[in-house]
Amino acid sequence: MATQAEPLSEDQSRFLISDLCHMLDSYLEPDQVREVYRAYLFGAEAHEGQIRVSGEPYIYHPIAAARILAELRLDHKSIIAAILHDVIEDTPTLKEQIASDFGSDVAELVDGVSKLTQIEFESSAEAQAENFRKMILAMVRDIRVILVKLADRLHNMRTLSVMRPDKRRRIARETLDIYAPIANRLGINALRVELEELGFAALYPLRYQVLQKAVLAARGHRKEVLNKIETAIKRRMQQEALEGRILSREKHLYSLYKKIRDKTMSFKETYDVYAFRVVVDKVDTCYRALGIMHNLYKPVPGRFKDYIAIPKANGYQSLHTILFGPHGIPIEVQIRTEEMDRIAESGVAAHWVYKTNEQNLDQMHAGAREWLRELLEMQKHAGNSLEFLENVKLDLFPDAVYVFTPTGAIMKLPHGSTVVDFAYAVHTDIGNTCIAARVDRVEAPLRTTLRNGQTVEIITAAGARPSPAWLGFVVSAKARSNIRHHQKSLRREDAIDLGRRMLDRALGVFGSSAQVIADERLQALLKAYHLENEDDLLVEIGMGRRTAVLVARSLLPADDGTAVLGGEGTAPALVIRGSEGMVTRFSKCCRPIPGDPVVGVITRGRGMMIHTQNCRNIADGKYSAENCLDVQWEPGISEEFPVDVTVEVADRRGVLANVAKVIGDADSNIENVGIEERDGLTNSLRFRITVRNRQHLASVMRRVRNIPAVIRITRTRS
Ligand code: MN
Repeated sequence: MATQAEPLSEDQSRFLISDLCHMLDSYLEPDQVREVYRAYLFGAEAHEGQIRVSGEPYIYHPIAAARILAELRLDHKSIIAAILHDVIEDTPTLKEQIASDFGSDVAELVDGVSKLTQIEFESSAEAQAENFRKMILAMVRDIRVILVKLADRLHNMRTLSVMRPDKRRRIARETLDIYAPIANRLGINALRVELEELGFAALYPLRYQVLQKAVLAARGHRKEVLNKIETAIKRRMQQEALEGRILSREKHLYSLYKKIRDKTMSFKETYDVYAFRVVVDKVDTCYRALGIMHNLYKPVPGRFKDYIAIPKANGYQSLHTILFGPHGIPIEVQIRTEEMDRIAESGVAAHWVYKTNEQNLDQMHAGAREWLRELLEMQKHAGNSLEFLENVKLDLFPDAVYVFTPTGAIMKLPHGSTVVDFAYAVHTDIGNTCIAARVDRVEAPLRTTLRNGQTVEIITAAGARPSPAWLGFVVSAKARSNIRHHQKSLRREDAIDLGRRMLDRALGVFGSSAQVIADERLQALLKAYHLENEDDLLVEIGMGRRTAVLVARSLLPADDGTAVLGGEGTAPALVIRGSEGMVTRFSKCCRPIPGDPVVGVITRGRGMMIHTQNCRNIADGKYSAENCLDVQWEPGISEEFPVDVTVEVADRRGVLANVAKVIGDADSNIENVGIEERDGLTNSLRFRITVRNRQHLASVMRRVRNIPAVIRITRTRS
């Protein structure tokens, strides 16, 4: 979402403690401001003689961080903590000293921020995940810790140009991966937007420049159209005697970039949307203003969103609609109250700012704490930091889908959620015992992806258990951690029981049952698997180490002539672990390559098809859960695999030949090329190339990306 406010900008002239105190005078008590000044003296003495990479005395950095929080009008303890945030970390000062001078609250805040800084984020994923875990723990104690940390990070981003290029990129990536999403999750739009813009500019300087130039070039014509629409809206509101502010908004570069990247829209399509915000006095007026807009211009069907009735996870409230403007140009309108507008800017930080009894603020703060508590719960279940980070990342991107329970209650789930995610969202026990569902009163398999507005009823069975195969399609962190947790805690008897039921069901798929299995076939299989007895086999199945369908298939005579086992095309079978001799093929929809997480789908008569786990066809629930198996790549595969990539390039002579040469130099073969023009500014080149694995693909992509005319390269999946 874009804002009309300029990002918090730093003047060229140095910002001094006197400037800070002057700012604070406008909203803090005089003795609180004196406390802040005392903290400055303390900090300046502690950092005496230290200088930053930029050559400035160190103390200017904490003052700048404090200024960012002052612009959000945070309380004096947060401001003091910001001034002292590097004192424990970088000077001999002890936490106890801060506690005796400024109280235990401030000491805890500074300590919390220091703990976040102590581990250098290394390139290794584990270190990053571990640090992130610590950040969550510190946040749970006091959310202000993360506000100080965000201010610290924002100032570091503003002064990033003095760093070495590799360090710059690492910090920028971390900012986009973790800090900006956290600011977003806490609803602090003012910080989020600037972190994203700076992160984008530092990580992808070329793309940033291209986009910036394009925006400047397109701006002139826009102004006229914007004025015209604004006047029309104003006039109509006056006619209806409705008071309110109307603001035209410009999209930020990073949000433009994301739209172009994710929705594969051209720059023109994205930028040619005219965006307005209408800010009025109260909720009732919002809906009346909406009626007026829909009367003035026709709304685009299906694009109206009521975030007032159903606020976003971070507390954001507003009405969103899209209209067909004059000559059919799309107009985006946000309608909200003054209070909602303020909260949209400062999110959770508003809790310390507006010391009123506004219920919404308390709710939002409670919402943020609730989120943190859930994270804490999750990290108890998670086996390691990496697993935890993976879970949290899913949670940080709040695109949600809203569905109803049979009693009409609204449930909010992450985008892409399935029936199983819904079941776990209702209650852990329901998730653990669900076996099927009715979606809009029609029976649906567990892996069905849910859409907005559907009514979902879960069918449970006493004694049913979560299946490890669900991990292949659930998206919510709660479902994921519960299924894993359940799998780990399975007792032997339970595993035998679960394994028996899974095997029975699998035999049923082939029209057979456990009663008719010949004993010599079972014995032969046990021997082949090096297992002692039938129970051991059932445990293997129950724990998810062997797949029920494959065991079932091996227990049955291969008499149906479908050539499911062995035979032709044996080479690929050596590539996939878990296929156990079945003929495997690689699906053309997602073109898996070694390193991709994969799923095997048992097909009638065609052996096993290998898809990537995030393949559309898997997510859409085209295949029933019983037929989908978790499989893995064998290590050390030497074959080459075809994969599609799209390269977006500036419209320049000779660029195709250039890209083709670089691909060849990277030890990859081109099987196919297609060119499509986009918008006169850029062209899209589609290549089918062969690679050995993901690392190989990454190295090809990296080299292509380094060609100056290349704007971006992405892996294509149909
Ligand atoms: Mn710092």
